[in-house]
Amino acid sequence: KPQVIIIGRPNVGKSTLFNRLVGKKLALVDDQPGVTRDRRMGDATIAGMEFTIVDTAGWEDDDAETLPGRMRKQTEVSLEGADAALFVVDARAGLTPLDNEIARWLHSQKVPVVAVANKAEGSTGQSGVLEAYSLGFGDPVALSAEHGEGVADLFDALWPIIGEKAEGEESADEPSEEELLSGPLKLAIVGRPNAGKSTLINRLLGEDRLLTGPEAGITRDSIAIDWQWTDPQTGDTRDIRLIDTAGMRKRAQVVEKLEKLSVADARRAIDFAEVVVLLLDATRGLEHQDLKIASHVLEEGRALMIAINKWDIAEDASKLFNGIRGALDEGLAQVRGLPLFAVSARTGKGLDTMLHAAFEIREAWSKRVPTSALNRWFDDALEANPPPAPKGKRIKLRYITQAGTRPPRFVVFGTRLDMLPKSYERYLVNGIRKELGFDAVPVRVVLKTPK
Ligand code: GDP
Repeated sequence: KPQVIIIGRPNVGKSTLFNRLVGKKLALVDDQPGVTRDRRMGDATIAGMEFTIVDTAGWEDDDAETLPGRMRKQTEVSLEGADAALFVVDARAGLTPLDNEIARWLHSQKVPVVAVANKAEGSTGQSGVLEAYSLGFGDPVALSAEHGEGVADLFDALWPIIGEKAEGEESADEPSEEELLSGPLKLAIVGRPNAGKSTLINRLLGEDRLLTGPEAGITRDSIAIDWQWTDPQTGDTRDIRLIDTAGMRKRAQVVEKLEKLSVADARRAIDFAEVVVLLLDATRGLEHQDLKIASHVLEEGRALMIAINKWDIAEDASKLFNGIRGALDEGLAQVRGLPLFAVSARTGKGLDTMLHAAFEIREAWSKRVPTSALNRWFDDALEANPPPAPKGKRIKLRYITQAGTRPPRFVVFGTRLDMLPKSYERYLVNGIRKELGFDAVPVRVVLKTPK
């Protein structure tokens, strides 16, 4: 994690800023040799950017007059490990000789410095903020640590310095992306009764594990089946855990009506699944019920693939395929271009291609885009198509971070977000999907105004 040190003369609000950035978390005490006083250290997060924040407040309590000398000694130790320094001044009091002295000293150090004009809430601090330009550290960040204003600007100033180092560190209790991707692919096959789910599972397993018949719902109870599949495209053998929803359906059948059943199947299956295959019946096309299942899978944030089964007996195949493609894009407008496959559970046609794609989709579903790349894309997207200015009020979109994976989740930070039209949100979501490699995956984007 990058380290950011807070520096400034007494009473400018260093501790308030420290507490603001650390939030409720307890500050840690570092008793590193060479530091005679305790350094207060804490874990800080701004909009997903994680860093360690070091507070130097308290070092100067004894005798403020001799501060620069004492500060130099002790701060130098901290500065060695620091990736950035926040030099805090008091915007309401204006600059003092001591501020200027600290500034001169900081200029002699190698660490990148961000000038922070604190106590800038309301209009009282305006002139102090302007004065802070004279410190020579570029645009000062106007901030109110006490009121929590200006933290987004602080992000903007810090991100170019520490962003790269701050991102993408997995926390220890979560399995890493690598671990998740080397585990068995958890695959569910869902669809209306008689779409051919049991036949498909039997075909995949290569043995008659499940009973099938023309009558809907004749399957034995079974929940997860582990098996290995060799990908003919790569020659790799891979583990797959198949969620057998047909087996679940049988138990539910007694109490539920048939039309409801397939949705209930899907609900249960997707709790287990990473990737869900929705099986359609080529002799029936895309039906309302299928769209309902598909929407549900997407709402739950699972990666969804569509397979048209019984391709061996499909009539007018290309017209059927294109018809289903069009109906899907219309019925599920939020995720255009879902992966669509033609398969036959009976002959085995298309199944290897489908499974190969399932592994690729899981990878995209689990992917994390580095914040730097994400924001490069974001800046380009805003430039190519700037957000509108309804009634002359500018909507400001500042930056984007990926808050999570499986499914990929993003947070866009900005102001006046309630005025942002839905169509612009869709523009961003489509851009993420098309340009950052999430094509087949449901992507979540939330808008947030930093506090
Ligand atoms: P489930 O209810 O979704 O599990 O469907 P089943 O696997 O029981 O299949 C329903 C019917 O469709 C059975 O009569 C199967 O033989 C038939 N079927 C399944 N897959 C195919 C296929 O790929 N081609 C053809 N022609 N028939 C299939």
